[in-house]
Amino acid sequence: MLRKARCEGYAVGGFYAWNLELVQSVVNAAEGECSPAVLLINQTGLNYAGLEYYAAFAKKAAEKATVPIVLHLDHAQNLELVTQCIRCGFSSVMFDGSAFPLETNIELTRKVVEAAHGVGVSVEAELGRVPRAGNGLPVEVSEASMTDPDEARRFVDTTGIDALAVSVGTVHGLYKRYARLDFNRLKRIGDLTDVPLVLHGGTGIPDDAVHKAVELGVCKINVGEALRRAYLNGLKGALGNNSGKNDVMDVLASARLEAENVVRGKMRLFRSAGKAD
Ligand SMILES: [Zn+2]
Repeated sequence: MLRKARCEGYAVGGFYAWNLELVQSVVNAAEGECSPAVLLINQTGLNYAGLEYYAAFAKKAAEKATVPIVLHLDHAQNLELVTQCIRCGFSSVMFDGSAFPLETNIELTRKVVEAAHGVGVSVEAELGRVPRAGNGLPVEVSEASMTDPDEARRFVDTTGIDALAVSVGTVHGLYKRYARLDFNRLKRIGDLTDVPLVLHGGTGIPDDAVHKAVELGVCKINVGEALRRAYLNGLKGALGNNSGKNDVMDVLASARLEAENVVRGKMRLFRSAGKAD
């Protein structure tokens, strides 16, 4: 899915879907926009929903969709969770060893690649560290946490991963404020590696920077914050005193639609709309 995106000059959106309604938001948007999509869930989300419940409905939604949908485990920090998710039908996993020194990250990532490739599951890994926005935290990302291009080449070559998440200025959880991307660094990483590149923290990337990043080899952009906001706003609106909605399904359907519209907008921005052929 990502190699096709790289060839044709667009990025596939990875969208956080914490519950049934958000899975439906993403799949409905993908079918409506004729776009491929990646459903994202992480350990926290799986703790909430229960891995087997979540995998059952998300996998079914992906199978039944009329467009390509990947079910992807995001930011796994241990092999045990990766193995459980693969057993439950995930088609793609991200192992995040970015908190470890390079050699340890390589060693752990290789183990994940071995386990995943044996059963036809693809692996994304992270080098450098994409920070998380917090109260009062500066948007600028320190040089030290950004991906080093030469290390990226070695990391890709020695681990055999299918996609590389890079730290080039994006921040998890940004909303309204924008991250500033280091395009020189991104270009060097793209020149030195041949795997699809992934940006996390997609909500906080300005539109023109999205297009420039795609030109430099970014094939997947993760979006969580924008969906979280849209879904919660949809819920709040539907629960407001004047909404007239007092049915559980009406309330959740409002939130689902609000999130779907955000996903549709991102698919057009990433230029994946119309590419699900
Ligand atoms: Zn991330």
